[in-house]
Amino acid sequence: MTVRTRFAPSPTGYLHIGGVWAALLAWMYARKHNGQFILRIEDTDTKRTIEGAQAKLMESLRWVGIDWDEGPDKGGPFGPYIQTARQPLYQKWADWLVENNHAYKCFATPDELAEMRQELEAKGDHSGYDRRYRDLSQSEVDALEAAGRPYVIRFKMPLDGETAVPDLLRGEVVFDNKQFTDYVILKSNGLPTYHLAHVIDDHFMEISHITRGVEWLNTAPIHVRLFEAFGWEMPVFVHLPVILNPNGKGKLSKRTQAFTQGDQEILVKADEFMEAGYMPEAVVNFLANIGWTFGDDREKFTMSEALERFDLADVSAAPAKLPYSKLDWLGNQYFKDLSDDLLVKKLYPYLQQHQIDISAETLLILSPVIKMRLKKLSDAVPQLAFLAETPPLPSTVEEITHKKMGPEAAATAYKKTIAFLEGLSAEQFEVDTIAAGMREIGAAVIDGGKPGPYLGTLRYVVTGQKVSPPLFESVVALGKDRVLARLVAAQKLIDSL
Ligand code: GLU
Repeated sequence: MTVRTRFAPSPTGYLHIGGVWAALLAWMYARKHNGQFILRIEDTDTKRTIEGAQAKLMESLRWVGIDWDEGPDKGGPFGPYIQTARQPLYQKWADWLVENNHAYKCFATPDELAEMRQELEAKGDHSGYDRRYRDLSQSEVDALEAAGRPYVIRFKMPLDGETAVPDLLRGEVVFDNKQFTDYVILKSNGLPTYHLAHVIDDHFMEISHITRGVEWLNTAPIHVRLFEAFGWEMPVFVHLPVILNPNGKGKLSKRTQAFTQGDQEILVKADEFMEAGYMPEAVVNFLANIGWTFGDDREKFTMSEALERFDLADVSAAPAKLPYSKLDWLGNQYFKDLSDDLLVKKLYPYLQQHQIDISAETLLILSPVIKMRLKKLSDAVPQLAFLAETPPLPSTVEEITHKKMGPEAAATAYKKTIAFLEGLSAEQFEVDTIAAGMREIGAAVIDGGKPGPYLGTLRYVVTGQKVSPPLFESVVALGKDRVLARLVAAQKLIDSL
Protein backbone atom coordinates (compact mmCIF):
# COMPACT_ATOMS: atom_id res chain seq x y z
CA MET A 1 0.00 0.00 0.00
CA THR A 2 1.28 3.45 -0.84
CA VAL A 3 1.20 5.71 2.16
CA ARG A 4 -0.70 8.88 1.38
CA THR A 5 -1.46 11.25 4.21
CA ARG A 6 -2.97 14.67 4.18
CA PHE A 7 -3.38 17.89 6.10
CA ALA A 8 -6.81 19.35 5.51
CA PRO A 9 -7.12 22.75 7.18
CA SER A 10 -10.06 25.08 6.86
CA PRO A 11 -8.93 28.57 5.87
CA THR A 12 -10.90 30.16 8.67
CA GLY A 13 -8.09 31.93 10.49
CA TYR A 14 -4.51 31.60 11.59
CA LEU A 15 -2.74 28.25 11.79
CA HIS A 16 -2.59 26.99 15.38
CA ILE A 17 0.63 25.33 16.53
CA GLY A 18 -1.44 22.19 17.20
CA GLY A 19 -2.31 22.20 13.50
CA VAL A 20 1.35 22.42 12.57
CA TRP A 21 1.97 19.47 14.87
CA ALA A 22 -0.80 17.38 13.27
CA ALA A 23 0.51 18.25 9.82
CA LEU A 24 4.03 17.34 10.89
CA LEU A 25 3.08 13.87 12.07
CA ALA A 26 1.19 13.15 8.84
CA TRP A 27 4.09 14.52 6.81
CA MET A 28 6.65 12.49 8.76
CA TYR A 29 4.72 9.32 8.19
CA ALA A 30 4.47 9.92 4.45
CA ARG A 31 8.14 10.83 4.17
CA LYS A 32 9.22 7.84 6.20
CA HIS A 33 7.37 5.50 3.88
CA ASN A 34 8.33 7.29 0.67
CA GLY A 35 4.68 8.10 0.27
CA GLN A 36 2.92 11.34 -0.54
CA PHE A 37 1.71 14.15 1.64
CA ILE A 38 -1.25 16.14 0.39
CA LEU A 39 -2.48 19.58 1.30
CA ARG A 40 -6.21 20.01 0.88
CA ILE A 41 -8.13 23.15 1.67
CA GLU A 42 -11.49 22.49 3.29
CA ASP A 43 -13.37 25.67 2.56
CA THR A 44 -16.96 24.52 2.21
CA ASP A 45 -18.05 26.59 5.18
CA THR A 46 -17.78 29.65 2.99
CA LYS A 47 -19.12 32.06 5.63
CA ARG A 48 -16.08 31.33 7.77
CA THR A 49 -13.45 31.56 5.05
CA ILE A 50 -10.96 34.31 5.68
CA GLU A 51 -9.23 36.04 2.84
CA GLY A 52 -5.52 35.36 2.86
CA ALA A 53 -5.69 32.54 5.42
CA GLN A 54 -4.76 29.90 2.87
CA ALA A 55 -1.61 31.70 1.74
CA LYS A 56 -0.64 32.33 5.33
CA LEU A 57 -1.02 28.73 6.42
CA MET A 58 0.99 27.57 3.43
CA GLU A 59 3.73 30.00 4.40
CA SER A 60 3.77 28.66 7.97
CA LEU A 61 4.01 25.05 6.81
CA ARG A 62 6.85 25.88 4.45
CA TRP A 63 8.61 27.76 7.20
CA VAL A 64 8.91 24.66 9.38
CA GLY A 65 9.95 22.61 6.37
CA ILE A 66 6.71 20.76 5.69
CA ASP A 67 6.36 20.39 1.94
CA TRP A 68 3.51 18.75 0.06
CA ASP A 69 3.49 16.64 -3.06
CA GLU A 70 0.00 17.65 -4.13
CA GLY A 71 -1.93 20.72 -3.19
CA PRO A 72 -3.80 23.79 -4.39
CA ASP A 73 -0.67 25.53 -5.64
CA LYS A 74 0.94 22.40 -7.07
CA GLY A 75 -1.93 20.48 -8.50
CA GLY A 76 -1.64 16.72 -8.73
CA PRO A 77 -3.44 13.73 -10.20
CA PHE A 78 -6.43 13.95 -7.84
CA GLY A 79 -7.18 17.66 -7.90
CA PRO A 80 -8.56 20.14 -7.49
CA TYR A 81 -7.31 20.36 -3.90
CA ILE A 82 -9.73 23.05 -2.79
CA GLN A 83 -13.10 21.71 -1.80
CA THR A 84 -15.28 24.48 -3.21
CA ALA A 85 -13.80 23.63 -6.61
CA ARG A 86 -14.98 20.03 -6.22
CA GLN A 87 -18.70 20.76 -5.76
CA PRO A 88 -19.96 18.69 -8.72
CA LEU A 89 -18.29 15.61 -7.27
CA TYR A 90 -20.02 16.01 -3.89
CA GLN A 91 -23.32 16.65 -5.61
CA LYS A 92 -22.94 13.54 -7.73
CA TRP A 93 -22.21 11.28 -4.79
CA ALA A 94 -24.85 12.82 -2.57
CA ASP A 95 -27.36 12.10 -5.36
CA TRP A 96 -26.00 8.59 -5.58
CA LEU A 97 -26.64 8.09 -1.87
CA VAL A 98 -30.22 9.33 -2.30
CA GLU A 99 -30.82 7.06 -5.26
CA ASN A 100 -29.48 4.11 -3.33
CA ASN A 101 -31.59 4.83 -0.28
CA HIS A 102 -28.71 5.80 2.00
CA ALA A 103 -29.71 9.43 2.13
CA TYR A 104 -32.78 11.57 1.63
CA LYS A 105 -33.97 15.07 0.96
CA CYS A 106 -35.08 16.95 4.03
CA PHE A 107 -37.33 19.95 3.48
CA ALA A 108 -37.49 21.23 7.04
CA THR A 109 -37.60 25.01 7.17
CA PRO A 110 -35.49 26.95 9.69
CA ASP A 111 -38.60 27.63 11.80
CA GLU A 112 -39.58 24.02 11.68
CA LEU A 113 -36.09 22.98 12.79
CA ALA A 114 -36.09 25.45 15.66
CA GLU A 115 -39.42 24.16 16.90
CA MET A 116 -38.28 20.56 16.47
CA ARG A 117 -35.13 21.23 18.43
CA GLN A 118 -37.13 22.71 21.28
CA GLU A 119 -39.49 19.77 21.42
CA LEU A 120 -36.62 17.30 21.35
CA GLU A 121 -34.67 19.17 24.01
CA ALA A 122 -37.72 19.06 26.25
CA LYS A 123 -37.50 15.30 26.02
CA GLY A 124 -33.78 15.35 26.77
CA ASP A 125 -32.88 14.57 23.16
CA HIS A 126 -30.04 16.83 21.98
CA SER A 127 -29.81 15.47 18.46
CA GLY A 128 -31.73 18.39 16.99
CA TYR A 129 -33.54 16.37 14.36
CA ASP A 130 -36.38 13.84 14.58
CA ARG A 131 -35.92 12.25 11.15
CA ARG A 132 -39.38 13.35 9.99
CA TYR A 133 -38.42 13.47 6.29
CA ARG A 134 -36.63 10.12 6.32
CA ASP A 135 -39.49 8.00 5.13
CA LEU A 136 -41.48 10.24 2.81
CA SER A 137 -42.89 8.52 -0.24
CA GLN A 138 -41.48 9.43 -3.63
CA SER A 139 -44.65 11.31 -4.54
CA GLU A 140 -44.46 13.39 -1.33
CA VAL A 141 -40.87 14.28 -2.14
CA ASP A 142 -41.78 15.13 -5.73
CA ALA A 143 -44.59 17.38 -4.58
CA LEU A 144 -42.35 19.33 -2.20
CA GLU A 145 -39.71 19.70 -4.86
CA ALA A 146 -42.27 20.81 -7.43
CA ALA A 147 -43.45 23.46 -4.96
CA GLY A 148 -39.89 24.79 -4.98
CA ARG A 149 -39.15 23.96 -1.35
CA PRO A 150 -35.42 24.15 -0.59
CA TYR A 151 -33.91 21.04 0.89
CA VAL A 152 -30.75 19.56 2.35
CA ILE A 153 -29.59 15.99 1.97
CA ARG A 154 -29.33 13.94 5.14
CA PHE A 155 -27.51 10.67 5.56
CA LYS A 156 -29.44 7.77 7.03
CA MET A 157 -27.68 6.61 10.15
CA PRO A 158 -28.74 3.17 11.43
CA LEU A 159 -31.58 3.48 13.94
CA ASP A 160 -30.13 0.97 16.34
CA GLY A 161 -27.13 -1.28 16.84
CA GLU A 162 -23.58 -0.06 17.17
CA THR A 163 -20.86 1.37 14.99
CA ALA A 164 -17.24 0.51 15.61
CA VAL A 165 -14.55 2.98 14.66
CA PRO A 166 -11.17 1.36 14.21
CA ASP A 167 -8.53 3.79 15.44
CA LEU A 168 -4.83 3.14 15.14
CA LEU A 169 -4.07 4.61 18.56
CA ARG A 170 -7.11 3.35 20.47
CA GLY A 171 -8.18 0.11 18.88
CA GLU A 172 -11.93 -0.17 18.22
CA VAL A 173 -14.06 2.54 19.68
CA VAL A 174 -17.68 1.42 19.75
CA PHE A 175 -20.63 3.82 19.61
CA ASP A 176 -24.31 3.20 20.21
CA ASN A 177 -26.15 4.32 17.08
CA LYS A 178 -28.99 5.69 19.20
CA GLN A 179 -26.85 8.69 20.00
CA PHE A 180 -26.86 9.81 16.37
CA THR A 181 -29.44 11.34 14.14
CA ASP A 182 -29.45 11.76 10.37
CA TYR A 183 -26.87 14.42 9.67
CA VAL A 184 -26.83 16.93 6.86
CA ILE A 185 -24.27 15.95 4.25
CA LEU A 186 -25.22 18.42 1.52
CA LYS A 187 -26.53 21.86 2.37
CA SER A 188 -29.28 23.66 0.48
CA ASN A 189 -26.65 25.77 -1.29
CA GLY A 190 -25.27 22.57 -2.80
CA LEU A 191 -22.11 22.59 -0.74
CA PRO A 192 -21.23 19.52 1.32
CA THR A 193 -20.59 19.41 5.05
CA TYR A 194 -17.31 18.10 6.37
CA HIS A 195 -18.75 14.60 6.84
CA LEU A 196 -19.44 14.02 3.16
CA ALA A 197 -16.66 16.13 1.68
CA HIS A 198 -13.76 14.53 3.46
CA VAL A 199 -15.02 10.97 2.91
CA ILE A 200 -15.27 11.60 -0.82
CA ASP A 201 -11.94 13.38 -0.96
CA ASP A 202 -10.06 10.91 1.18
CA HIS A 203 -11.39 8.15 -1.05
CA PHE A 204 -10.68 9.73 -4.41
CA MET A 205 -7.36 11.18 -3.28
CA GLU A 206 -6.43 7.65 -2.22
CA ILE A 207 -5.56 8.68 1.31
CA SER A 208 -4.22 5.76 3.31
CA HIS A 209 -4.27 7.35 6.78
CA ILE A 210 -6.65 10.00 8.05
CA THR A 211 -4.77 11.83 10.77
CA ARG A 212 -6.87 14.43 12.52
CA GLY A 213 -7.74 15.81 15.94
CA VAL A 214 -9.53 13.60 18.42
CA GLU A 215 -12.45 16.05 18.35
CA TRP A 216 -13.52 14.19 15.20
CA LEU A 217 -13.70 10.82 16.93
CA ASN A 218 -17.28 11.31 18.12
CA THR A 219 -18.58 11.82 14.62
CA ALA A 220 -16.33 9.19 13.08
CA PRO A 221 -19.24 6.68 13.11
CA ILE A 222 -20.94 8.81 10.46
CA HIS A 223 -17.79 8.60 8.38
CA VAL A 224 -17.49 4.85 8.89
CA ARG A 225 -21.11 4.45 7.78
CA LEU A 226 -20.55 6.68 4.76
CA PHE A 227 -17.57 4.64 3.59
CA GLU A 228 -19.69 1.54 4.07
CA ALA A 229 -22.64 2.94 2.12
CA PHE A 230 -20.37 3.86 -0.78
CA GLY A 231 -18.73 0.45 -0.59
CA TRP A 232 -15.29 2.06 -0.38
CA GLU A 233 -12.35 0.76 1.58
CA MET A 234 -11.74 2.81 4.68
CA PRO A 235 -8.42 4.56 5.27
CA VAL A 236 -6.77 4.00 8.65
CA PHE A 237 -8.12 6.46 11.21
CA VAL A 238 -5.59 8.10 13.48
CA HIS A 239 -7.21 10.45 15.96
CA LEU A 240 -4.42 12.52 17.42
CA PRO A 241 -4.56 13.45 21.10
CA VAL A 242 -5.53 16.88 22.34
CA ILE A 243 -2.79 19.29 23.20
CA LEU A 244 -3.07 20.80 26.63
CA ASN A 245 -1.83 24.05 28.06
CA PRO A 246 1.67 23.59 29.48
CA ASN A 247 0.30 23.45 33.03
CA GLY A 248 -1.95 20.57 32.01
CA LYS A 249 -5.12 22.58 32.59
CA GLY A 250 -7.37 23.04 29.60
CA LYS A 251 -6.84 22.66 25.90
CA LEU A 252 -4.21 24.73 24.21
CA SER A 253 -6.31 24.51 21.07
CA LYS A 254 -8.85 26.83 22.70
CA ARG A 255 -6.27 29.60 22.96
CA THR A 256 -6.10 31.94 20.06
CA GLN A 257 -3.01 33.94 20.84
CA ALA A 258 0.14 34.13 22.91
CA PHE A 259 -0.26 34.38 26.68
CA THR A 260 1.95 33.97 29.70
CA GLN A 261 1.88 31.21 32.26
CA GLY A 262 4.17 31.77 35.22
CA ASP A 263 7.12 33.48 33.62
CA GLN A 264 6.86 31.47 30.43
CA GLU A 265 5.47 33.02 27.30
CA ILE A 266 3.17 30.55 25.55
CA LEU A 267 2.97 31.09 21.83
CA VAL A 268 -0.05 29.70 20.03
CA LYS A 269 -0.14 30.66 16.37
CA ALA A 270 2.44 29.37 13.91
CA ASP A 271 3.07 33.02 13.01
CA GLU A 272 4.03 33.86 16.54
CA PHE A 273 6.88 31.34 16.47
CA MET A 274 8.07 32.75 13.20
CA GLU A 275 7.87 36.33 14.43
CA ALA A 276 9.64 35.51 17.68
CA GLY A 277 12.52 34.32 15.54
CA TYR A 278 12.82 30.73 16.65
CA MET A 279 14.82 28.64 14.24
CA PRO A 280 12.36 26.50 12.30
CA GLU A 281 14.61 23.48 12.88
CA ALA A 282 14.16 23.98 16.62
CA VAL A 283 10.39 24.31 16.33
CA VAL A 284 10.05 21.22 14.23
CA ASN A 285 12.37 19.26 16.53
CA PHE A 286 10.25 20.40 19.49
CA LEU A 287 6.97 19.41 17.83
CA ALA A 288 8.25 16.04 16.64
CA ASN A 289 8.76 15.04 20.25
CA ILE A 290 5.17 15.74 21.30
CA GLY A 291 2.86 12.76 21.72
CA TRP A 292 5.70 10.64 20.46
CA THR A 293 9.18 10.27 21.93
CA PHE A 294 12.38 9.98 20.06
CA GLY A 295 13.79 7.88 22.90
CA ASP A 296 17.21 7.50 24.53
CA ASP A 297 16.42 10.62 26.55
CA ARG A 298 17.41 12.64 23.53
CA GLU A 299 15.66 15.94 22.95
CA LYS A 300 17.69 17.22 20.06
CA PHE A 301 17.61 15.28 16.84
CA THR A 302 17.44 15.91 13.14
CA MET A 303 14.40 15.19 11.06
CA SER A 304 16.15 12.36 9.25
CA GLU A 305 17.00 10.76 12.59
CA ALA A 306 13.36 11.15 13.63
CA LEU A 307 12.13 9.60 10.39
CA GLU A 308 14.21 6.49 11.03
CA ARG A 309 12.33 5.86 14.25
CA PHE A 310 8.93 7.44 13.78
CA ASP A 311 5.76 5.45 13.53
CA LEU A 312 2.22 6.79 13.75
CA ALA A 313 1.26 3.70 15.75
CA ASP A 314 3.62 4.82 18.53
CA VAL A 315 1.86 8.15 19.04
CA SER A 316 0.24 8.17 22.45
CA ALA A 317 -3.52 8.66 22.66
CA ALA A 318 -3.11 10.47 25.98
CA PRO A 319 -3.42 14.27 25.97
CA ALA A 320 -0.05 15.88 25.40
CA LYS A 321 1.42 19.01 26.93
CA LEU A 322 3.70 21.35 25.06
CA PRO A 323 6.79 21.88 27.23
CA TYR A 324 7.77 25.38 26.14
CA SER A 325 10.86 25.42 28.34
CA LYS A 326 12.18 22.65 26.11
CA LEU A 327 11.52 24.77 23.08
CA ASP A 328 13.67 27.51 24.59
CA TRP A 329 16.40 25.04 25.41
CA LEU A 330 16.28 23.61 21.90
CA GLY A 331 16.13 27.07 20.39
CA ASN A 332 19.38 27.91 22.16
CA GLN A 333 21.03 24.63 21.12
CA TYR A 334 20.31 25.33 17.47
CA PHE A 335 21.74 28.83 17.67
CA LYS A 336 24.86 27.61 19.42
CA ASP A 337 25.43 25.17 16.58
CA LEU A 338 25.26 27.88 13.94
CA SER A 339 28.40 29.35 12.48
CA ASP A 340 28.84 33.05 13.18
CA ASP A 341 28.25 33.86 9.55
CA LEU A 342 24.99 31.97 9.45
CA LEU A 343 23.78 33.61 12.61
CA VAL A 344 24.45 37.02 11.10
CA LYS A 345 22.57 35.96 7.96
CA LYS A 346 19.52 35.32 10.12
CA LEU A 347 19.93 38.13 12.60
CA TYR A 348 20.67 40.97 10.19
CA PRO A 349 17.41 40.81 8.21
CA TYR A 350 15.44 40.15 11.39
CA LEU A 351 16.82 43.29 13.03
CA GLN A 352 16.26 45.30 9.85
CA GLN A 353 12.65 44.18 9.82
CA HIS A 354 12.38 45.47 13.35
CA GLN A 355 13.93 48.82 12.36
CA ILE A 356 17.17 48.10 14.20
CA ASP A 357 19.99 49.16 12.01
CA ILE A 358 23.20 47.37 12.91
CA SER A 359 25.74 46.48 10.27
CA ALA A 360 26.55 42.87 9.48
CA GLU A 361 30.21 43.53 10.41
CA THR A 362 29.23 44.70 13.87
CA LEU A 363 26.93 41.72 14.33
CA LEU A 364 29.74 39.41 13.38
CA ILE A 365 31.84 40.74 16.26
CA LEU A 366 29.08 39.90 18.72
CA SER A 367 27.74 36.74 17.23
CA PRO A 368 30.08 34.29 19.08
CA VAL A 369 28.94 35.68 22.41
CA ILE A 370 25.26 36.39 21.85
CA LYS A 371 24.48 33.02 20.39
CA MET A 372 25.42 31.41 23.68
CA ARG A 373 22.26 32.79 25.24
CA LEU A 374 19.97 33.24 22.27
CA LYS A 375 16.75 31.16 22.14
CA LYS A 376 15.03 33.17 19.47
CA LEU A 377 16.10 36.15 17.42
CA SER A 378 13.82 38.51 19.31
CA ASP A 379 15.96 37.95 22.43
CA ALA A 380 18.72 39.86 20.67
CA VAL A 381 16.60 42.97 20.14
CA PRO A 382 16.79 44.50 23.64
CA GLN A 383 20.36 43.33 24.07
CA LEU A 384 21.60 44.99 20.92
CA ALA A 385 19.52 48.14 21.09
CA PHE A 386 22.50 50.17 22.32
CA LEU A 387 24.24 49.62 19.00
CA ALA A 388 21.43 50.96 16.91
CA GLU A 389 20.28 53.91 18.95
CA THR A 390 22.21 56.32 21.06
CA PRO A 391 21.50 55.07 24.52
CA PRO A 392 20.91 57.75 27.15
CA LEU A 393 24.13 59.01 28.63
CA PRO A 394 24.60 58.32 32.33
CA SER A 395 22.85 61.04 34.24
CA THR A 396 23.21 60.15 37.91
CA VAL A 397 26.26 59.38 39.95
CA GLU A 398 24.71 56.12 41.10
CA GLU A 399 24.79 54.87 37.55
CA ILE A 400 28.51 55.32 37.21
CA THR A 401 29.79 54.48 40.67
CA HIS A 402 29.55 51.43 42.87
CA LYS A 403 29.64 50.86 46.60
CA LYS A 404 33.10 49.46 46.08
CA MET A 405 34.05 52.25 43.67
CA GLY A 406 33.18 55.68 44.95
CA PRO A 407 33.32 58.89 42.85
CA GLU A 408 37.02 59.37 43.40
CA ALA A 409 38.00 55.86 42.35
CA ALA A 410 35.52 56.04 39.48
CA ALA A 411 37.03 59.31 38.25
CA THR A 412 40.48 57.72 38.23
CA ALA A 413 39.14 54.62 36.52
CA TYR A 414 37.42 56.52 33.69
CA LYS A 415 40.44 58.76 33.18
CA LYS A 416 42.70 55.73 32.91
CA THR A 417 40.29 53.96 30.62
CA ILE A 418 40.04 56.95 28.30
CA ALA A 419 43.81 57.17 28.11
CA PHE A 420 44.09 53.46 27.59
CA LEU A 421 41.60 53.35 24.74
CA GLU A 422 42.99 56.48 23.10
CA GLY A 423 46.37 54.78 23.04
CA LEU A 424 45.14 51.76 21.14
CA SER A 425 45.75 51.51 17.42
CA ALA A 426 42.96 50.25 15.18
CA GLU A 427 44.48 46.74 15.23
CA GLN A 428 44.76 46.79 18.98
CA PHE A 429 41.09 47.67 19.36
CA GLU A 430 40.07 44.05 19.81
CA VAL A 431 38.59 41.90 22.56
CA ASP A 432 41.70 40.40 24.19
CA THR A 433 43.69 43.60 24.39
CA ILE A 434 40.73 45.57 25.68
CA ALA A 435 39.87 42.88 28.21
CA ALA A 436 43.41 42.75 29.57
CA GLY A 437 43.69 46.54 29.81
CA MET A 438 40.32 47.06 31.44
CA ARG A 439 40.84 44.27 33.96
CA GLU A 440 44.13 45.80 34.94
CA ILE A 441 42.57 49.22 35.43
CA GLY A 442 39.79 47.69 37.49
CA ALA A 443 42.18 45.75 39.67
CA ALA A 444 44.17 48.92 40.31
CA VAL A 445 41.27 51.15 41.33
CA ILE A 446 39.20 48.74 43.41
CA ASP A 447 40.18 47.89 46.94
CA GLY A 448 41.08 44.25 47.08
CA GLY A 449 42.14 44.18 43.43
CA LYS A 450 39.00 42.53 42.01
CA PRO A 451 37.82 44.43 38.89
CA GLY A 452 34.18 43.21 39.00
CA PRO A 453 32.46 46.38 40.31
CA TYR A 454 34.36 48.52 37.85
CA LEU A 455 33.53 46.30 34.89
CA GLY A 456 29.87 46.11 35.88
CA THR A 457 29.62 49.88 36.08
CA LEU A 458 31.48 50.22 32.82
CA ARG A 459 28.88 48.08 31.09
CA TYR A 460 26.23 50.63 31.96
CA VAL A 461 28.44 53.55 30.97
CA VAL A 462 29.23 51.97 27.62
CA THR A 463 25.87 50.47 26.65
CA GLY A 464 23.34 52.40 28.73
CA GLN A 465 21.81 48.99 29.48
CA LYS A 466 21.88 46.77 32.54
CA VAL A 467 21.78 43.69 30.31
CA SER A 468 23.91 43.53 27.21
CA PRO A 469 26.21 41.13 25.45
CA PRO A 470 29.53 40.68 27.25
CA LEU A 471 31.35 43.95 27.91
CA PHE A 472 34.53 43.66 25.85
CA GLU A 473 32.75 42.48 22.75
CA SER A 474 30.23 45.28 23.21
CA VAL A 475 33.06 47.82 23.41
CA VAL A 476 34.58 46.53 20.18
CA ALA A 477 31.19 46.45 18.47
CA LEU A 478 30.34 49.99 19.54
CA GLY A 479 33.66 51.31 18.25
CA LYS A 480 36.26 53.54 19.77
CA ASP A 481 34.67 56.94 19.16
CA ARG A 482 31.31 56.11 20.62
CA VAL A 483 32.82 54.38 23.64
CA LEU A 484 35.14 57.31 24.31
CA ALA A 485 32.32 59.82 24.02
CA ARG A 486 30.37 57.94 26.67
CA LEU A 487 33.36 57.63 28.98
CA VAL A 488 34.03 61.35 28.67
CA ALA A 489 30.42 62.05 29.57
CA ALA A 490 30.73 59.85 32.65
CA GLN A 491 33.88 61.56 33.69
CA LYS A 492 32.37 65.02 33.26
CA LEU A 493 29.48 63.99 35.42
CA ILE A 494 31.85 63.07 38.22
CA ASP A 495 33.96 66.20 37.74
CA SER A 496 30.84 68.32 38.10
CA LEU A 497 30.26 67.08 41.64
N1 GLU B 1 -11.07 20.76 7.94
C1 GLU B 1 -10.99 20.01 9.15
C2 GLU B 1 -10.50 20.94 10.25
O1 GLU B 1 -10.09 22.01 9.96
C3 GLU B 1 -10.01 18.88 8.96
C4 GLU B 1 -10.25 17.65 9.71
C5 GLU B 1 -9.54 16.53 9.02
O2 GLU B 1 -8.30 16.55 8.99
O3 GLU B 1 -10.20 15.67 8.46
O4 GLU B 1 -10.52 20.61 11.40
